[in-house]
Amino acid sequence: MENFKFTTMEYSRPDFDSFKSKVQSFTKKLSTVNSYEEARNVFLDYDKYSCEFNDMITLANIRHTIDTTDEFYDKEVEYIEEVYPTVMPIVLAFSDCLYENKFRAEFEKEYGKQLFVQVELQKKSFTEKNIPLMQKEAKLCSEYEKIIASASIEFDGKTHNLFGIMTYFENKDDSVRKEAYKAYASFYEQHEARFEEIWDELIKVRNEMGKNLGFDNYIPLGYMKQGRTDYGAEEVASFREQIKTELVPFCQKLYLAQAKRVGLDKVMAYDEKLIFSSGNAQPIGDEDFEMKVAKEVYHDLSQETGEFFDYMERHELFDLKNKPGKAATGYMTAFNSLKAPFVFSCFNHTTYDMEVLSHELGHAFAGYMAMREQPISDYYSESTDIAEIHSMSMEQFLYPYAERFFGENADKFRFSHLQGALTFVPFGVAVDEYQHIVYANPQLTPKQRTAEWKKLEEKYMPWRDYGDIEFFAKGGWWYHKIHIFLYPFYYINYTLTTIGAMEFKKKMHTDKNKAWNDYMNLCKVGGSKSYIETLKFANLSIPFEEGSVKNSLSYAIEILNSQLEKF
Ligand SMILES: [Zn+2]
Repeated sequence: MENFKFTTMEYSRPDFDSFKSKVQSFTKKLSTVNSYEEARNVFLDYDKYSCEFNDMITLANIRHTIDTTDEFYDKEVEYIEEVYPTVMPIVLAFSDCLYENKFRAEFEKEYGKQLFVQVELQKKSFTEKNIPLMQKEAKLCSEYEKIIASASIEFDGKTHNLFGIMTYFENKDDSVRKEAYKAYASFYEQHEARFEEIWDELIKVRNEMGKNLGFDNYIPLGYMKQGRTDYGAEEVASFREQIKTELVPFCQKLYLAQAKRVGLDKVMAYDEKLIFSSGNAQPIGDEDFEMKVAKEVYHDLSQETGEFFDYMERHELFDLKNKPGKAATGYMTAFNSLKAPFVFSCFNHTTYDMEVLSHELGHAFAGYMAMREQPISDYYSESTDIAEIHSMSMEQFLYPYAERFFGENADKFRFSHLQGALTFVPFGVAVDEYQHIVYANPQLTPKQRTAEWKKLEEKYMPWRDYGDIEFFAKGGWWYHKIHIFLYPFYYINYTLTTIGAMEFKKKMHTDKNKAWNDYMNLCKVGGSKSYIETLKFANLSIPFEEGSVKNSLSYAIEILNSQLEKF
């Protein structure tokens, strides 16, 4: 397989029946072993086999997002989502057997205790009763995704998907930005009725899952599904509070300075992305140019990142250009059996492209390192509250190379990106609080939920003003956030990890070698430790602790403050 290429990888429908019987035979073997060595061999064989099986599913999912209009993969993904939950009890039986194994102490000695912490989490978060609910959830999510992918908005004499229309949010012409925003709003407004129903059903389905596991609602289960073992809703609430006091006032200052800079009375919602009156930085070349620059940059950054980039290129593990029918998203995933990351996005010739080339490739690099460093696939990836540190820190590490992407506008890129990174956080915690509110209060009507979002905007984004764009003005902005529908309780991760990334930025400034060393350690450790343990291992602070937000953000705030008048 050393010479595989993504485009020629052969897909065959995963055989769930033979998977089930094979896993059952592993379980049987594991329960009758006589030595640790035997037990370990069974475990490693199982690990290898399940990686290969899951990689076929990954392949179907990737090809489906590359062309959502391809009926073949559409059907395959639908089939997989339908059948997949039925193998869960059999997989869990294997995990159970490992968990109860008489050689557990030896396993812990060799692989650490995190393996069993994960199994425990898996056990606690699963009940067979939830299988039909999981199937229903997957159907609702894929319907939402289809509606989003089907977006076809006429604007500026062209037809755009959602990513395409967003390009205009940075346009220098005030009326173009506003009209593009209106067009964007009208897409969500058109689908509001169905979105309301999908969301309502998702909340019900998920809360029922939580109840089936003995919880009041979905929230504790949502936390478990995010792999959280050493903090809960209370810690997260205290983090949101720190953001409100430490960051929200500074963001307000940023927007006041921005209004002055671009010559507006006030930065309206549709002006937020216009950081400079002369327009934002744009890549100085086309998509091929951007890829060529990215290659140079990754080679320059370190030997490991250079090798990584060449590997990705050699095996065609990028699909980054925008094409009709592509899902409007960006992500990194991996073929574990091949130790191969994969990166997907829709380039749109704005600063977003460089964000993809740093953010998603940051994820991919971390995966690439962990897959080579860690002995078992359970440790190839980490919980997402760690994973986004990899990606967001990579964004910061590439700042010194911005000239190569943006030429003389590199400073503008750096300023606007850093401002964006910080002003994002209040929005991010609002998304998180919104989810807590709706799952804890399932009696809210769809319109009341949207009103709750409006209140959160007032609390965390007091600068936000949509003017006469009715749909957003009454609270409709939350609809555009895919994560709220598809990945419950994921979003706070981006904000927790911004803190880690800003800490790395600060460290890069004071001690570059130490910063890179800590970063490499963070990547290599993968998912072999818990959240807090991982942060400590990489010499990062714990965001819930009093003062941590203030301390981590201080350098970034200092830079922005010193440049408010520069442009
Ligand atoms: Zn990410």
